[in-house]
Order: sequence, then C-alpha cells, then structure tokens
Amino acid sequence: MALYVYKFGGTSVGSVERIKAVAEKIKKAHDQGHQLVVVVSAMSGETNRLTALAKEMQAQPSEREMDVLLSTGEQVTMSLLSMALHALGCDACSYTGSQVKILTDSSHTKARIQDIDDHKIRQDLEQGRVVVVAGFQGVDEKGNITTLGRGGSDTTAVALAAALKADECHIYTDVDGVYTTDPRIEPKARRLDKITFEEMLEMASLGSKVLQIRSVEFAGKYNVALRVLSSFKEGNGTLITYEESQMEKALISGIAFNRDEAKLTVTGVPDLPGVASKILGPIAEQNIEVDMIIQNIADDDTTDFTFTVHRNDYQRALEILKKVCQETGARQVTGADNIVKVSIVGVGMRSHAGIASTMFKTLADEGINIQMISTSEIKISVVVDEKYLELAVRSLHSVFGLDKKEQA
Ligand code: ADP
Ligand code: ASP
Ligand code: MG
Repeated sequence: MALYVYKFGGTSVGSVERIKAVAEKIKKAHDQGHQLVVVVSAMSGETNRLTALAKEMQAQPSEREMDVLLSTGEQVTMSLLSMALHALGCDACSYTGSQVKILTDSSHTKARIQDIDDHKIRQDLEQGRVVVVAGFQGVDEKGNITTLGRGGSDTTAVALAAALKADECHIYTDVDGVYTTDPRIEPKARRLDKITFEEMLEMASLGSKVLQIRSVEFAGKYNVALRVLSSFKEGNGTLITYEESQMEKALISGIAFNRDEAKLTVTGVPDLPGVASKILGPIAEQNIEVDMIIQNIADDDTTDFTFTVHRNDYQRALEILKKVCQETGARQVTGADNIVKVSIVGVGMRSHAGIASTMFKTLADEGINIQMISTSEIKISVVVDEKYLELAVRSLHSVFGLDKKEQA
C-alpha cells in the first residue's frame, strides 16, 4: 500500500465525461489499497474565461480580487470530482487551499507556499477516504485567498507530496510524459523515460510549460519522486530524477522555447561606471523582471545595452527607457516584441565541446539570424525572430539526434 498524490490538469478534467473517467481511475487505485490525495485544476479554459470576465469590470483589476475570482475554477472541479467518486461508491472529501490550510505569503497572483497543515488530510486518509484538494491556491496569514501563478496546481501537488512524504507524485496531463520538445511544435519529439531535476528545471524556466517551475524546484529540494503521465492512456510516463548516471547518454536532452519575451536596446550610452545600474535600476523599481542582458562597447566611448523582459511588460519598459535615455544622454531606445527564445538543454554539455558551434551553424544554414545568445553550464539560449520558431526548434531537434528513431 502506498500514498500517492495525483494531479489532474485542466484538459484531464475538461468535461463531465472526463471528470467521470478520472474518478474511475482514482477508484481503481483506491480499490488496490492505496491512499490517495488528488489535486485538481480548473476545467480547461476556465481560468482564462474568469480572467476575461475580470477585464470586463476593470482594466487592471486588484490582484487580491483576481485571486478570489480565479480560485473558484478549482473549487468547481474539486466538488464535481468528489461527487463523481461518491457516485462510484468511493468515499471522498474535497477541500479548498484555505480549508486544508495551505499557508502562503501575501504576494497575490504569484504567492509562495510557506507551510501546509496536513492534519485534516491525514485524518481523512486514515478513515479510508480519498482527499481532493483544489490546486493553485492557498491562504495568507490574514485569511486572504492567494493563488500560485499560472500552472500552479503542479506546485500544490508537489508541495503536498513533500508535506505528506508521499511515495510518488503523479502529474496527469494531456501528454504521456516530458518530451524532447513540445510535441505540438515538433511531431518527431520523443518521450523521455527519465530526466534530471536540473534539466527539467532549465526546461521549465526556459518555457516548457509541461510543469510549473516552482513544482520542479520543490520536488528537487524535498526529493519528491515526480512523474509526468497521461490521464488518457496507460504508461510509465517520465520520471524526474537525480540519477544522472543511468540516463540515456544524450548530449542534449531537450529543446525549450519561450514566446513570452520582448527585447529592448539602448544605444550610444556614455560608457561610464554605473551605466548598467542606471538603465536596469528604474526597470527593477517597477518590478519588471529582466532575463537576458548584453552590453557591447563601441570605439567612441559609448556602449549599447540590450536586454529582454516579459512581453506583458514591454510597453512599460519602453516608456521607462525613454526617460532613462534623456537622463543619461544615450542616443536612442529601440525594441521588438516579435522575438522568441530557443534553448537547448542537457547535462551532457558539461563534458562536450563544440555544442554551441553546432547550434550556431545549424541556425546559420537555415538562414536564421541570431539576435542574442546566453549560456550556462547546461543550456544555450538564442533569441531569434518569432517567424523562425518552428524552423529553429525542428532543425536543432534533428541535428542533436532527438528525432524519433523510426523517423530519423
Ligand atoms: P495541464 O493542463 O495538464 O497542466 P499543460 O497544458 O499545463 O497541461 O501542460 C501540458 C502541455 O505542455 C502539453 O500539451 C504540451 O503541449 C506542452 N509542452 C511543452 N513542452 C513540453 C515538453 N517538453 N514535453 C511535453 N509537453 C510539453
Ligand atoms: N487553473 C490554473 C491555470 O490555468 C492553474 C493550473 O491549471 O495549474 O493556470
Ligand atoms: Mg499545467
């Protein structure tokens, strides 16, 4: 008998039929004698629908009220799933994040979990009940409802698995595991049997939305056995693990991409100490996160400065830089929001030279101009025009030998 935390994403609970199918799956595992805590997302499209409703009321709704609104999506699913389980004769009880008590900080719309009270859940499990918990939400110390950021139900599941010391945490979704890249972009993508926490963390941070970044951080920190599987078909899915030595010996494990970035450039900035902080200071003060940064020195004692931000912050960042431009005597500010970041990820990079040059040559052969480059020990990212996204991902997927074997 094992204790499992199962999480079902939006598509997996997207209709009455699907919720009933999920209930069947849970009942089967429960009948085998396992203890189950089930985390659910809102039905697919619901969080977007609620967000659009809020925008009808106010252009910039208060974040506190957004959390009150968005948390209702998960509350609908949790109760419907409990009812479906009851209908199958399976004892179940549902809780919101606040009822459990999943305590978070007060950063509305992107709260962090601080503590989980496992008391109620354990009592229910001991009574032989399936416990259903609303994902993506918690409560702060003043009793305000909070949410954990888009995709946050993954984090609820992993945090519960860590708190309950569950044997495994299963993330059931609409793909049957973690692939070498998003199968929606490259049909030749291959499912990985295993991937390291480190690589998964990079993939998630670089745009692979199959798992929320924080869920991977949590799983790595608390050593939660984490598996991504399909809710629609049987299979072992992908295990996220520490066991690097037993991994497939691939140089590159996966390719991630991010469509959410925009690029800003300040040219002709007088090249003096403190330039970077003069440009990025006002951006940080407005809570805008900066990702890649490049600074170049020209012959005429000026410097060009380029960085990327989230596309939602692009216009705001542009306005700020125009002011900075006047104050610093820089020549001009330009920007583009039609860019994407494409990254290759793999622990194999540590011990192999020449991977960057293969990447750059492949892109050059396809006529793709690289606008920015950034590297770390296990990843190389490039910024390119968004029209090249598919071409870049597919050509890199092929050159690094990631295509499905039968189609290679
Ligand atoms: P859920 O609603 O179950 O949380 P998500 O839509 O958040 O599901 O995540 C699953 C989706 O992630 C897949 O449908 C797939 O398009 C996308 N995805 C992106 N990168 C990858 C990858 N490397 N492997 C598998 N799926 C990926
Ligand atoms: N419902 C939330 C979202 O769509 C949380 C989740 O599904 O994980 O982002
Ligand atoms: Mg998700």
